[in-house]
Amino acid sequence: MIEEIAPRSGTAFRLAKGRLLRVIDPQGVQVADLLAYNDADIREAISNGRTFDYEESISLTVGNRLWSNRSNAMLTIVEDTVGRHDFLLTPCSEATFRHFYPQHPVHRGCFGNLAEALAPYGIEPDMIPCAFNIFMNVSVAGDGRLSVKPPVSQPGDFISLRAEMDLVIGLTACSAYASNGGLFKPIRYEIS
Ligand SMILES: [Zn+2]
Repeated sequence: MIEEIAPRSGTAFRLAKGRLLRVIDPQGVQVADLLAYNDADIREAISNGRTFDYEESISLTVGNRLWSNRSNAMLTIVEDTVGRHDFLLTPCSEATFRHFYPQHPVHRGCFGNLAEALAPYGIEPDMIPCAFNIFMNVSVAGDGRLSVKPPVSQPGDFISLRAEMDLVIGLTACSAYASNGGLFKPIRYEIS
């Protein structure tokens, strides 16, 4: 069954080992922040740094694995119609809205949406690391400067990830202007 995450909101759910999570961008040009925790011990969480270590790249697509802070593989990317995701930047939050968008109303962002969705699993805000930012288009210049560009995802594009352990997943439809080409769209997901 395909579930939909409304624009600028988020959800959390369990994903058993071996199951596939497909994250779909139904309208295109929309980011989804993904977090993963070991369901057996939520102190074990997804880690961008460990992932960059073991995958030897910041550019992650089919065949790459997403690793935990304890150096265990949590998810493997098995399908990817976009090939452009970010794992450098943190979830958008009230503070990042004040910093980057002083002209816009403050929004709790992916961080606030993830914190609320993950609270029933015992996961506190301070346990939220860098998310795997599906479809987020961040370019790194030769001098190291970062720029956030609109996603290149088209309507119906998707990524599928296989759980390598029993997981708690947090997933959003991102709320930040620059990350989503200025418009906020829903995200869909399907577990199989
Ligand atoms: Zn966001």
